[in-house]
Amino acid sequence: MKLEALVNPSVLTQPVYEPGKPIEDVARELGLDPSTIIKLASNENPFGPSPLAKEAAVRALDQGGLYPDGGCVALRARLAQAWGLDARQFVIGNGSNELIELLGHVFLRPGDEVVMGNPSFAVYKLVTLLFGAKPVEVPLVNHAHDLAALAAAVTPRTKLVFVPSPNNPMGTANTESELLAFALGLPEHVVFVFDEAYAEYLETPPDLRQLMREGRKVVCLRTFSKIYGLASLRVGYGYASIEMASLLNRVRQPFNVNAIGQAAAIAALDDGEFVVKCRRENHVGLRRLEAGMQALGLATVPSMANFLLVKVGDGARVLSDLQKQGVIVRPMRAYGMPEWLRVTVGTECQNERLLGTLAKVLQF
Ligand SMILES: *Cc1c(COP(=O)(O)O)cnc(C)c1O
Repeated sequence: MKLEALVNPSVLTQPVYEPGKPIEDVARELGLDPSTIIKLASNENPFGPSPLAKEAAVRALDQGGLYPDGGCVALRARLAQAWGLDARQFVIGNGSNELIELLGHVFLRPGDEVVMGNPSFAVYKLVTLLFGAKPVEVPLVNHAHDLAALAAAVTPRTKLVFVPSPNNPMGTANTESELLAFALGLPEHVVFVFDEAYAEYLETPPDLRQLMREGRKVVCLRTFSKIYGLASLRVGYGYASIEMASLLNRVRQPFNVNAIGQAAAIAALDDGEFVVKCRRENHVGLRRLEAGMQALGLATVPSMANFLLVKVGDGARVLSDLQKQGVIVRPMRAYGMPEWLRVTVGTECQNERLLGTLAKVLQF
């Protein structure tokens, strides 16, 4: 018997996520010195983690022989304090990607529908398909989520609606009043998932906590992978009603978040100054990249996040030539935008290197 015959059919048709290429892979494939390569492909913080988070991570290694706190008690208490919510309203995940999967475990059965923008974060669709549910993709308008069209795509079968703001890969954002009105207009059988992976890059991010107080079915997702610079440690969290959070906590693995990540995340929350500094630097870098791209005659999408979409023409060719020069960026082919690349805002030096290399490569 063929192995394939045994496999859950949604696994056989499951598309594969295309991550940003690691520095080591590019170095090996192209024979480059890894220390000369810069990666501006996955919206990571070019300043890395806060020094406080690094120290906490190193200290946590002393207890590396012990299982982590499976309930993430200290981290949830710290988050409850930061948000003015009950610690039972939080669920911690192995990155917020895991929380998207937990939402699938809790809510999705074959035949259910999940509404999402297109393009938006690829993992929503992957998780939907993995659970045998149907992605209902709603085109963006002017590169932004069309909330009225998302609402109109809801049917009696819809279980989840995903809205990231700022959206990845576009960088566009919706206002708080738009989002509140959208949430209030959703029918009772729909859970609104608001993905705030880049919220810390906004001066005043939307606050949807009042929806939770009013008993609305809403889950907000945050991550330590972006402005907190802890992508490799894999920590994200959701906050929602106590009932919603306890359902998500029920389906996760007992020790889903490692102790080093938990300790680093708590320390990262304590270093508010670092976040302010990164937000400021990002703002300056983003403006610089926008101006630089414009000077090269390249169109961009106005971004509120730590990355920028830029239209380069033959995306695959430019991506490959940039890589040969030691600059890794992200192709947008998988998002149906083969003429575009997504670049992360780097340090000042990395941004200049990107612009200089792009200028050179565009002349090839
Ligand atoms: C990067 C990103 C995440 C975070 O992923 P982690 O698993 O927390 O690293 C979530 N949502 C969006 C839209 C993202 O771009």
